[in-house]
This record gives sequence, C-alpha cells and structure tokens, in this order.
Amino acid sequence: MAKEVDYLIVGGGVTGRLLQIELMQRGLKALVFDKLDKNHSTQVAAGLVNPVVGKFFTVGWRAEEFFPSLAQYYRAIEHKLNASFFKEKPMKRIIANAGEQNIWLSKAHLSKYVDFCSFKQEKIKGLNTDWGVLQILQSGEMNTHSFLEACNANLPSIFESFDASQLDIEQKKYHMFSYRNIIFCEGYESINNPFFKDYLSVIPTKGELLEICAEGIPDDCIYLGAVFLQPKGKNRWTVGATYEKNQTSLEPTDMMKSDLETKLNKLIRVPYSITKHYCGIRPASIDRKPLMGKHPTIDSMYTMNGMGSKAISMVPLLAQEMVNYMEHHIPLSEEINLNRFF
Ligand SMILES: Cc1cc2nc3c(=O)[nH]c(=O)nc-3n(C[C@H](O)[C@H](O)[C@H](O)COP(=O)(O)OP(=O)(O)OC[C@H]3O[C@@H](n4cnc5c(N)ncnc54)[C@H](O)[C@@H]3O)c2cc1C
Repeated sequence: MAKEVDYLIVGGGVTGRLLQIELMQRGLKALVFDKLDKNHSTQVAAGLVNPVVGKFFTVGWRAEEFFPSLAQYYRAIEHKLNASFFKEKPMKRIIANAGEQNIWLSKAHLSKYVDFCSFKQEKIKGLNTDWGVLQILQSGEMNTHSFLEACNANLPSIFESFDASQLDIEQKKYHMFSYRNIIFCEGYESINNPFFKDYLSVIPTKGELLEICAEGIPDDCIYLGAVFLQPKGKNRWTVGATYEKNQTSLEPTDMMKSDLETKLNKLIRVPYSITKHYCGIRPASIDRKPLMGKHPTIDSMYTMNGMGSKAISMVPLLAQEMVNYMEHHIPLSEEINLNRFF
C-alpha cells in the first residue's frame, strides 16, 4: 500500500528543511529526499546573517521584513529539534579605504540605517581599522552543520538520491509514496532537473573559503571587509568567500586561494597560517532574487530555489510565503515568482 504524504520535498538543504518545518507546523505531512552528505552549499556556508551588504553599504533586499524576527524564529526551531545552531553574534564592518569611507559618509545620515548599523571610530587589535568601523545590528550566524544534523536526525527523511525518471506524474506517485504536491529544492543541482531545467534559471556560483589560524584578534565578533573573518574558537577563523558564476567544479583552486589571501592581507595585521581550503556551490539567479513557484504545465509540482548567498536570513519568511501560496493560493510577489522569466 502506498504511503501518503501531503508533500514530497526533493533536497534537504536549508531551503527544503525550513519548508518542511513550515509545512509540519501547519499539520501537513512532509517528507524530504536528500542525498545525505552530498550537500555542497548549506553544509559549506558560513551561515552569516548580515543586513548591510556590499561596498555601497546597501541595506539588503527586504531586510526590514527578514531580520527583526530571525533570532526568535530560529530559537523556536532549535527548541523543536532539541538542538543549538543559531547565535545572535556581533558583526563589525571594517571600512577598507578612503573611497569606502566617503561612500559611507555620503549615506550615513539616511534613516534606513538606524535599525541596521552605527559608525564607530575604534581600533581593533590585529586588524586594519584606520578608516573606521561600522557596528552591524541584527547580525548573527547559523552553524549549518549542526542545523543539518538536527534536521537529519529529527525530521521525516529518506536518505537517497531522488530519481526523477521514476516519478509518476499522473498518479502522483514515487515508488511507495503517493503525494498531493511535490516541491524541488535541489540547490544548484536543479540545472539537471528534467522538469524545471528549461524554466529555472539557477546560476551555480562557486564560493571558496579558507580556514586560518591567527592569534591576537578579539574573537567575540565577526568581521567584514573585502573578505569576512568568522571566529571558530581556539584562534581558528573562517575566511571567505569568493564568487564565481557558472562554476560547478567542486575542487578549490590556487587562483581563488591567492585572491582570498590578497584580500585578507589588507584586513589583518597579525601573522596567520592556512589550515584548510574548500568550496561549495551557491544556487544564485540572474537578478539575485529567489526563484519560487509552480511548474507552468504540471499540476502539483513546485520549486523553491535561487537563495544565492542569503538563504539563512531569507528562507524563514519565504518558506511561509511559499506555503501560503501552495496551500491558500496567496500569490507570490512578482519579484520572486519564477514565472517572471517565462
Ligand atoms: C562558500 C559559501 C558561503 C556561503 N555563505 C553563506 C552565508 O554566510 N550566509 C548565507 O545565508 N548563505 C551563505 N551561502 C549560501 C547558502 O549556502 C545557500 O544559499 C543555501 O545553502 C542554499 O540552500 P538550498 O537548500 O537551496 O540548497 P543546497 O544547500 O544546495 O541543498 C540542496 C540539497 O538537495 C540535495 N539534492 C539535489 N538533488 C537531489 C536528488 N536528485 N535527490 C536527493 N537530494 C538531492 C543536495 O544533496 C542538497 O542536500 C554560502 C554558500 C557558499 C557556497
């Protein structure tokens, strides 16, 4: 006899898992298929949540909606999963040079920054802070390993590769499972999805990271410069990340290593040694907005993808919007609906 579920979810990264949690909170049965240990994005991510981005100090897209309830949201999930993976953590943006300082000074008066950052002329031991520092508010980090582990241990899952050729679209069945809806959250691997690959313009964007050992920098804070410096305890730091579009190789390269080192050398004033060099592939999109919605011709088939480098801050609210859309037909905004591309 077929096992009935409301939702089959393909992909157990942060998108698939937070969507599953949202569905389950609404009393629905949701089962995740995931190729365990083959996650090359959530598992690798630094997990930072940062509302002020880029060299123009841009307040991130929909930051005023995504950020205020983030810590409370993750605390509730930690409680449910009996795990600990999210921390509100101070973050400091190190202004890199005179050019950046001028950009900040021309914008500092704008009221949109009040909730997200404030300027400080401070010296931080071990770092080049000659041009000033911004204290970022509402910042934090997710330990994505711990998050995935807690989800894998506690949420309904099948740990195997989902074979799309075995899907019976008419009967809405996959092997022994019958479903009401199916949703694909495969990250960058959606480029091989036979149902969505012609509609979903996911751009695989490779990111490389270093782990370094460096003494003498206060480790109560995450630092952002041309690269970020994230404390990992015992003088270990994660340094990242590079952005390379349309790259799916899972091998880190010497070229990107030296790019990270060059940027790090501008930020840091103490000696360091590199202990690890690794990479992952982000699922980005052309317009840097999520890709969510329904298949144009197949009933009951959906996707949620394109989280780029901001999944940890965006998916909590977007998962709610996705469920409202699938269950209650509340339209997705045009900005995120994948049908903006066809
Ligand atoms: C170097 C780097 C640093 C990053 N830093 C940050 C950061 O600081 N903050 C932040 O918010 N974001 C960050 N990101 C981005 C973030 O990791 C992604 O936006 C997020 O992980 C995307 O999650 P996802 O669930 O959509 O995709 P993924 O995490 O890629 O998950 C997709 C899952 O689907 C599974 N899958 C695919 N096909 C199948 C199949 N056929 N059968 C079964 N399972 C399948 C995969 O195995 C995988 O587990 C970073 C990414 C990288 C690479």
